[in-house]
Amino acid sequence: MGYKNVFKLIKCSDLIDGTGKRPIKDGAILLDGSKIKSIGKESEVVPPEGAKVELYDYSNYTIMPGMIDCHTHNNGFGDGRLGEELNLLADEILTLQSVRNLRASLFSGVTTIRENGPKNFTLINLKKASDDKLLLTPRMLICGRPLSIIGGHMGYFGSEVTGIDEVKAETRNLIKLGADYIKISATGGSTQTSFPYRHSFNMDELIAITEEAQKFGKLTATHCVSSQGIVNSIQADVDMIIHCMFKEPDGSNKYRPEVVDDLFQKGIYINPTLHVVRSTIWRLLHKKEEIGLTDHEETLLDSRQRDFEIHLKNCTKMIDNGLKLITGSDSSWSSYQSGNTVYETECLNIAGLSNMDSLLSVTKEAAKSLGVYDIVGTLESGKEADLLVLNKNPLDDINNLWDVKDVFLGGMLVNRGSEKSLKSIRQRRPSLN
Ligand SMILES: [Zn+2]
Repeated sequence: MGYKNVFKLIKCSDLIDGTGKRPIKDGAILLDGSKIKSIGKESEVVPPEGAKVELYDYSNYTIMPGMIDCHTHNNGFGDGRLGEELNLLADEILTLQSVRNLRASLFSGVTTIRENGPKNFTLINLKKASDDKLLLTPRMLICGRPLSIIGGHMGYFGSEVTGIDEVKAETRNLIKLGADYIKISATGGSTQTSFPYRHSFNMDELIAITEEAQKFGKLTATHCVSSQGIVNSIQADVDMIIHCMFKEPDGSNKYRPEVVDDLFQKGIYINPTLHVVRSTIWRLLHKKEEIGLTDHEETLLDSRQRDFEIHLKNCTKMIDNGLKLITGSDSSWSSYQSGNTVYETECLNIAGLSNMDSLLSVTKEAAKSLGVYDIVGTLESGKEADLLVLNKNPLDDINNLWDVKDVFLGGMLVNRGSEKSLKSIRQRRPSLN
């Protein structure tokens, strides 16, 4: 019998399926359209008789699932500018920048992103354009806009709300507009009118948001740069805590083991965003090398280095406590540019995740945390064929994730442009670091 469609047979040296099992030596994957039909040892993966097959021979390469970045800001520039400055730009400019960022992510091997905070309708419309095949992007999960209190973190993007009625109305509105999940600023942050060491929404408001989201089967994630936000989020049954920094209202650091126990008991995912802190350190170190720093910048560098060390130590404790830490870059926020997701995975590796667990933090576990594990995150039959071809095995060294040869998105080999333009995506590590 004949088959209409052309199958793709992909062969490789080391096949990491992303389930956590050891890689398969001399593996193969058979693709039928956008999906994986079968996967296993080369000898076991046989196309149906009479089928047309296109062969992709990567016999000297490693294959793994496409990366999933649970925390992106596609409007951003990653050049150190504040959210307030970003917000002054026209939506059209932010949309164009978002396209650029989405492409950088995809070309670097990120095949799914979750957007954590854009302005107005920029990402809502961009996702529609991507769905309509006007442009090629990673799979996108969007929040629409982050929910904020008046003057709260990222409130300038368009969703400042007060009281139970307003928070419910805006949650429903975002879902109506196409939000895949609800992002909430549960504490202040870098927004100048906000209070980073204090919680933002009152408990009744926070619960109203999560109840509304849950009613429609939507996940929730809270931005928390201080402890009270984390405590409130646990009580409100939030699915993911972003940043997860343990700061007291006076700005002091106090790791809270009892809170971490609660996070573990409830199975809440943690996206600690280590590299976005390091990205400011790196930006300042570059400047120090090149032209030197002002006194103010030296002080900032010291304080960021301290923040990073403390957060890194806390992440190690959370890993030891059994919490699931997920790769979410926070790019292109602050000085962290899209297409550099691997720096965050590297930070989790430094914090104590094994090479395998680091890899799972940006594939399988990330997919689970975003509610898309049934379609992506591992290479298994029936799932979407989002996969990476790598020059070297990242289980030997997590930094091998940088060395991507090819990217397949939904079974299609992505045209990633010239070697030179690909190289320009990666941010340089400072030599002083
Ligand atoms: Zn963020």
